Amino acid sequence: MPELPEVETVRRGLQPVMEGARLARVELRRKDLRFPFPQRFAERLAGKRIVALGRRAKYLLVELEDAPALICHLGMSGSFRVEQDDADPATPGLFHHERSKAAQHDHVVFHLEGGGQPPARVIYNDPRRFGFMLFAEDGLSNHPMLAELGPEPTGNALDGAMLRELLRDRVAPLKAALLDQHTIAGLGNIYVCEALWRAGLSPSRAAGTIAGRGKQAVAASEALASAIRAVIAEAIEAGGSSLRDHIRTDGTLGYFQHSFSVYDREGEPCPKPGCRGHIERFVQSGRSTFYCRTCQK
Ligand SMILES: [Zn+2]
Repeated sequence: MPELPEVETVRRGLQPVMEGARLARVELRRKDLRFPFPQRFAERLAGKRIVALGRRAKYLLVELEDAPALICHLGMSGSFRVEQDDADPATPGLFHHERSKAAQHDHVVFHLEGGGQPPARVIYNDPRRFGFMLFAEDGLSNHPMLAELGPEPTGNALDGAMLRELLRDRVAPLKAALLDQHTIAGLGNIYVCEALWRAGLSPSRAAGTIAGRGKQAVAASEALASAIRAVIAEAIEAGGSSLRDHIRTDGTLGYFQHSFSVYDREGEPCPKPGCRGHIERFVQSGRSTFYCRTCQK
């Protein structure tokens, strides 16, 4: 499943092509993905201008003029490919696993015109079909998938005080609380492991233990907030630099090269300077947790 930084790099790759352009025509090649497409999907989009391409958690939000916004999710294996007549196709975004380009998995084709760009086709490809596209009929902030989400892990709004508020009295393990999308939106398994390691906090301790007023709790919550912001920002930055490389070299984009400190590194020495521990793996609520018991307390 793509994590938030991957979705954000997809958004940044699509933004210049989509924003300001008009959906001249939409081709729908099947009735459903994870959910059925909305009734009259292609008809309702035809002719609409794209005002903005946004993101909330792992949802891409296509905001349209005079129409409800379109909420898109990439599921497990979804990707968007951009085709323009005078350029090689590009698949924006950095993914841990390579993305399909097989034509039989092209399910939606957006034909774009205008907006100061050459005509383009933005093609949604999804071999496993866990992605989806829905209209936010009653506005984005009222949509059930978006209304209950916690704050974004990007930007300065997420600080120690906010984390203490979000985690107060929570007895769930810290890692489980951070994966809960009502606590913080869009944080996934990989980046929670990375942030907890960076902050030196055990994934198993009760979440509420860093929400108190004591000096240690305050220091731990500040460290965790800045670790979360940093791991997400660095991964987005890594994605951004690959996008720029792609534009320069026209190489093959679509493979997640960003390296992790603990994720998927079971048995390796802990990379924290001065720590002599090793990375261990255990399963927490069905997901692999990677951590160092020597420096994460
Ligand atoms: Zn360590």
